[in-house]
Amino acid sequence: MANRKYIVGNWKMNGDHAALAEAKAIAQAAAAHAGVDAALCPPATLIAPMAEAVKGFAVGGQDCHAEPKGAFTGSMSAGLLQDAGATLTIVGHSERREGFGESDAAVQAKALAAMTTGLDVILCVGEPKNVREDAEAEAYVLNQLDGSLPDVAAGRTLAVAYEPIWAIGTGLTPTADDVRVMHAAIRGKLIDRYGPELGAATRILYGGSVTGDNATELLGVDNVDGALVGGASLTAAKFVPIIEAAAAL
Ligand code: PEP
Repeated sequence: MANRKYIVGNWKMNGDHAALAEAKAIAQAAAAHAGVDAALCPPATLIAPMAEAVKGFAVGGQDCHAEPKGAFTGSMSAGLLQDAGATLTIVGHSERREGFGESDAAVQAKALAAMTTGLDVILCVGEPKNVREDAEAEAYVLNQLDGSLPDVAAGRTLAVAYEPIWAIGTGLTPTADDVRVMHAAIRGKLIDRYGPELGAATRILYGGSVTGDNATELLGVDNVDGALVGGASLTAAKFVPIIEAAAAL
């Protein structure tokens, strides 16, 4: 049975209180598509006001610390995200892995902390351009998964986002066939790791320059259970068509 589509917006370091109007418009439109799960991950400062403004719509963090509390200046634990109203968090985004030197082991610890706290997790993996050009993308991504998937039962609470780094924010996307091959490989890894039932139920999102124009094609690929969307999630005008494309499949 196909998994429910999951469309998640990552606002990165964008969005102040004025942007709550966009979140409200997105939540309202998403409510009309009960067959699709949608969520927004705003900056940490906006989690509580957004959760308050869009009650019933999922709001998440973009990262969390592996420890529950302590002397970690500038960091946010999974429990604090939850206290602010988050029900999910992204971990292992390439901008964290690359910009903040996060290893697979660090990402795994974050995923585990978030899941045991009760947050849904979107765990990101993806290859840089040179790895794709060297035809090593699949091995690279599977290796990242080996090191960063949490050792707890997955299923509905964990999603993996395949985000080729060279496709993020560039307007470039892999071909549908490249996405199909990579998502099939990720599915195989999830089944190896979590067994046939939970491995099949763990959603695999595609991320990297998803827009209303390419969503139908990308979301229609086998084993693409949703999308992680950056730039096109910042406004209702751009994000809602992606939710609608998922609902129409
Ligand atoms: C992202 O950063 O997760 C992302 C997919 O960004 P964009 O949609 O802008 O490529």
